[in-house]
Amino acid sequence: HDASAMAGGRLRIDLAALVENYRAIRSRVAPARLAAVVKADAYGLGAGRVAGALHEVGCRDYFVAHLAEALALRPLIPAGATVYVLNGLMPGSEAACARTDIVPVLNSLDQARRWQAAARAIGRPLPAVLQVDSGMSRLGLAPEDAVRLAGTSAFKAHISLLMVMSHLACADEADHPANAAQLASFTALAKHFPGTPMSLANSGGAFLPAGFHGDVVRAGVALYGGAPHDGPANPMRPVIALDARVIQLRTVPAGSGVGYGHSFRVKRPTRIATIGVGYADGLPRSLGNSGAAWFKGHRLPIAGRVSMDSITLDASSLAEGALAPGDWVELIGASQSLDTLARDAGTISYEILTSLGGRYHRHYR
Ligand code: PLP
Repeated sequence: HDASAMAGGRLRIDLAALVENYRAIRSRVAPARLAAVVKADAYGLGAGRVAGALHEVGCRDYFVAHLAEALALRPLIPAGATVYVLNGLMPGSEAACARTDIVPVLNSLDQARRWQAAARAIGRPLPAVLQVDSGMSRLGLAPEDAVRLAGTSAFKAHISLLMVMSHLACADEADHPANAAQLASFTALAKHFPGTPMSLANSGGAFLPAGFHGDVVRAGVALYGGAPHDGPANPMRPVIALDARVIQLRTVPAGSGVGYGHSFRVKRPTRIATIGVGYADGLPRSLGNSGAAWFKGHRLPIAGRVSMDSITLDASSLAEGALAPGDWVELIGASQSLDTLARDAGTISYEILTSLGGRYHRHYR
C-alpha cells in the first residue's frame, strides 16, 4: 500500500544531504570534533535514522535533552558512541543513567554531588560533562564554581570528566558583542582544565572564527538544513521537503468568507484549494493569511486561518483544471525554503522542524 495515501502530508528526509552537511561543517571546524545534537527526535527528523546515518560517516558524540531520549537512542547506535544529556541529572535518575553508560551534563553543584554519590555507590568513577555559564544565564555553573568543584578530591575520585562545555546566546549574529565576551570567559576557564576537551559552539558558532570552535562543536539545526546564521545566504543543503495533498477544490462566490472567523473575504469568485495539513501537523496558526504553498512555480497564498487538519489556499492564479484533488502542493522544498516558511510564520526553523510531529509518513532517501 501507499503509506502517503493515508496522510494529508508527506515529509521527505534526504539523509545524503544530512551527511553532506555534517561533512561540510566537520571540515570547517577541523581539527575540532563534530558532535550531533539529536534532541527532540533529531529536531523532528527521527533520531535513530539521523544518528545511524551520521555514525556511518564517523560521528561518535550525540547530544539529547532528556534521559528518556538518551535511553531511546542508546540501543539504536553502536556501543562506542557516546550519548550526552544536556538538561542534566534529574533527582531520581542517577541509577538509570549510571547503569546505561549515558553521560549527564552536570549543570549545578547539586547535580555534581548526586553523580559523585552514585559513583561512590557503584564503586567506579562515572563519566560526565561539566557545563559552565559563560554568559547565556540559562544552564551551567558559574565559572569559579566549576573550577572549585573540579579541584575537590570527591570530584577527582568519582568523576571522569569527558568535556567542559558552554553555550553561546547570540552565535547566529556574527557581530554580536556577547560572542566575544562569552569566548573570553570560556577561554579563561580552559587553563584550569588542561587536557579536557572544551566545547562552546553550536551551528552558529561553527560559522564564527576558529577560536570559537574549541575541541568539540555541537551542531544541530545546520545539519538539518536550517540556516546557521542570519547572513543573507544559507550555506547548508536542504534536508527536508514537505508536501500536502489537495483534498478539495471549489470556486466560492464573490463576498464569501473563508475559514474560521471569516478572516479572509474574497472580492471576486475565487478558487479555494483545501490541503490536508494544519496546525496539528506543525504548520503554525500564524501562517494564516501570511504564508503560502507552491504548485509548479505558482505561489498559492494561504487564505484565512490555519485549521487543525487543513489549510485553505487561494488557487486563482492557476488555470482552470491545472490543480486537482489528490495533487501535492509544496510547503517546504525547491520553491520555498524551511527558513522562508518559518519567517512567514514569525518563527524560526527550529520551531517548524520540531513541530512537524508524528502525523506524517516519513520518506527517507
Ligand atoms: N548545544 C546546546 C547546549 C543546545 O541547547 C543546542 C540546541 O539548542 C545546540 C548545542 C545545538 O544548537 P544548533 O541547533 O543551533 O546547532
